[in-house]
Amino acid sequence: MKKQNYLDCLVGVFGQPVAENPGVVIQEAAFKALELDHWRFLTIDVDKDQLENAIKGLKAFKMRGINCTIPHKIAVMEYLDEISESARMIGAVNTIINDGGQLFGENTDGKGFMMSLASSGVQVEGQKAVVFGAGGAARAICVEMALAGVKTITIVNRPQDRTLGDELVSILTTRTNVEVLYEDWHGLFPIPANTNIVIHATSVGLYPDVHVIPHIDLDTLSSSMFVQDVIPNPIETALIKELCRRGIPCSTGAGMLVNQAALNIEMWTGLKPDKTLMLEALEKAVQA
Ligand code: NDP
Repeated sequence: MKKQNYLDCLVGVFGQPVAENPGVVIQEAAFKALELDHWRFLTIDVDKDQLENAIKGLKAFKMRGINCTIPHKIAVMEYLDEISESARMIGAVNTIINDGGQLFGENTDGKGFMMSLASSGVQVEGQKAVVFGAGGAARAICVEMALAGVKTITIVNRPQDRTLGDELVSILTTRTNVEVLYEDWHGLFPIPANTNIVIHATSVGLYPDVHVIPHIDLDTLSSSMFVQDVIPNPIETALIKELCRRGIPCSTGAGMLVNQAALNIEMWTGLKPDKTLMLEALEKAVQA
C-alpha cells in the first residue's frame, strides 16, 4: 500500500506590507519543478509588535525557515541563535533557517545582487561604484561589493535624515577596506565620469509608482558604465526603459530577487532550483 503523508513543509515570508511580495510565485514554481510536493511558501502579514510571537509560531509549526522583509529585517536578529558574519556586518537578516528549533540568520540580498551582476558579466574588483540609497538593500549590496574588492563606493542619499547614510559609511569604513564617499542627494545627481557601476537601491519607481524615475542626471551616464536597478516590481522600471532607450548597459532587479530566492531554497531544501523557470514565473506574475 502507498505510504500516506500529508504533512506540509512550511517556509514563507514575514512582512508588512507584504501582500504584493511576489516571493511565493518564484518559490512555489521552483518547488513544483523540484517535485517538492509538500513544500508551501506562506506570505504572512506580521505586525511590527508581533514579531516575537511570529517567531514562536514558526518554531511551534516546525517551519523550515522564513524570509523577513520590511520592517522585520533588523528587529528579528534578537530572536536568532546564530547569525552569519556578513549578515552581522550588514546589520540585517532576510533569511532564517530552522534546524530543529535552532534559528540561523543569513542575508542573501547582497549575495543575490552579486550573482546578478556576475551574470551580466560585471566584475566589481578594483571598480568605482555609485550607490543611490542607504537602506537595507543598499547596505547588503555595499557590504558584499566591499568584501569582493570594489575600490570606491559613493553613497548618495536624501539629506533629510543622515542616520542611515552615516551608519552605512561607518560599517564600510570600520569593517572593510573600501574607500567610501558620501553625497547628499539634491535635485538631479550627476554621475562622476570615472564611475564604472551605478546602483539604484531606493524604492523610487516601485509598484504602484511605476512612472517615476529617480533623480539621476541621465545625461552624465555613458555606455562604458553599467547601471543595476534593484526594483523587482515592475521588472522593467521607468528608469530601465529610459536607459535601454539611451543605449546604457543595465539590468533589472529581477536577477537579484531570483538569485536570492534560489539561495534561500538551497539553504532550506539542500537542492539547487531552476532559476530560468523562477524568472519566467516572476515575469508572468508581475507583468500579468
Ligand atoms: P529601506 O526602506 O530600508 O530603504 C529605502 C531607501 O530608499 C532609503 O535610502 C530611502 O532614503 C530611499 N528612498 C525612499 N524613497 C525615496 C525618494 N522618494 N527619493 C529618494 N530616496 C528615497 O528599503 P530597502 O533598502 O529594503 O529596499 C529598497 C528597494 O530595494 C525596494 O524597492 C525593494 O523592493 C528593493 N529590494 C529589492 C530586492 C531584490 O531582490 N531585487 C531585495 C531587497 C530590496 P531615506 O533614507 O531618505 O528614507
